[in-house]
Amino acid sequence: MWETITSGKTWEGHIINKKKNGDLYTDETTVSPVWDSKGNIIQYVSIKRDITHELEMESQMRRSQKMEAIGTLASGIAHDFNNILSAILGYSEMALRGAEENERLSSDIQQVLKAGNRAKDLVAQILTFSRRTEGERKPMRLQPIVKEAMKLIRASLPTTIDLVTAFDPNCGPILADATQIHQVLMNLCTNAYHAMRETGGVLTVRLRQQDVPVGMSGGLSLPPSASYVVITVSDTGHGMSQETLERLFEPYFTTKEPGEGTGLGMAIVHGIVQSHSGIIRVSSEPGKGTTIEVSFPLCIEAEGDATPDIAERPIGTERVLFVDDEEAIATVIKYGLERMGYRVTSFSKPMKAMDYFHQHPDLFDVVVTDLTMPKMTGIELARQIHQVRTDIPIILCSGYGKAAYENQGRQVGIREFVEKPIHPSKLGWAIRRRLDRSKKDVRTA
Ligand code: ADP
Ligand code: MG
Repeated sequence: MWETITSGKTWEGHIINKKKNGDLYTDETTVSPVWDSKGNIIQYVSIKRDITHELEMESQMRRSQKMEAIGTLASGIAHDFNNILSAILGYSEMALRGAEENERLSSDIQQVLKAGNRAKDLVAQILTFSRRTEGERKPMRLQPIVKEAMKLIRASLPTTIDLVTAFDPNCGPILADATQIHQVLMNLCTNAYHAMRETGGVLTVRLRQQDVPVGMSGGLSLPPSASYVVITVSDTGHGMSQETLERLFEPYFTTKEPGEGTGLGMAIVHGIVQSHSGIIRVSSEPGKGTTIEVSFPLCIEAEGDATPDIAERPIGTERVLFVDDEEAIATVIKYGLERMGYRVTSFSKPMKAMDYFHQHPDLFDVVVTDLTMPKMTGIELARQIHQVRTDIPIILCSGYGKAAYENQGRQVGIREFVEKPIHPSKLGWAIRRRLDRSKKDVRTA
């Protein structure tokens, strides 16, 4: 700077300065020389602007864009993987039934099934943080969920760590998926516990309602008059460095030993909170512990429908037209549904299915179609099918969440959605439910 301004030029740049209270801040600074009439430099003029907040917002923006990109990539992979898994699980189940006599073979196949199911859980986790999956959302109070989670946490804490809880009994309901909120709590508390493992300390979990507007957070502006239900998890552990804070929500980012941490915990928390339209705030300093606050918008809707019992085995004899561009799925599902008594015609090419339906419009009682297929999407197929026969129920399957179903699917008359990976019994049950409901509609009409 001195070199530039003493040679008569203007200097521009950022300067990190210290406030009286010791906090650091960044100034955007311009320093220009002032000359007297003889051309000597006699003074300097400096103009400064505190841009600490802007820089913070910028880096938050970058971080959230990075999360977005990772999410898109991961959900693409997860979706393809789901299709592959549907085939692996479906065929293994069939093989297992065929291998009942052979003990050795059936125990081997059971291992395949077990591994396949673990992979399915992992894919579900990846889809959770990439926000492409919509679980069941119902208005609910968080008190019982938090209490339940605390029971588990308390049981796993060593005596060197105290658990302090404070729940406001008057907290209102939020629109939530209970399992996911439970997961958020478990992930946050596990991290807090890990941070205090060596030193011991206090883990504090609070639940309260906050009626004041929260203002700006995470680079996002909030609705003006907001009431939030806030969960706070604090620990007195080792805290986080600036570098760790920057990468906290990245999937697979961990500072723990291999086998100790997967680095997925906070990525999942992030995904769940975002999909609940919530906000996360983190404050942490090395050696001073960590406080993480998640806020969810209060919901004033009435209780939703109760979900029907899935345990019942679905049986039907109706005729099903099944369309999925993945050949293996088309085969496995056809086989599975036929074992339940349905009569199934399956196609892996939507165009072919459409031609067939044109020729035999009265052959079927229900149509089940995948959403994403080359040449013709499930939505388009549904639209064309309803042009031929308006009364036939259509069920849409997708691994990309409910959005397409909610937005376009309902418009073309689709009334049922099944999340991928599809399992024959899950689908069989959805078909049963749809058909029974259609019958009722006809009777009441
Ligand atoms: P994992 O716990 O498997 O490492 P997470 O995504 O849960 O993955 O956390 C990522 C990293 O963030 C952790 O490895 C740790 O360094 C840091 N971290 C998370 N929570 C805390 C906490 N409460 N205190 C200190 N560090 C934390
Ligand atoms: Mg963790």
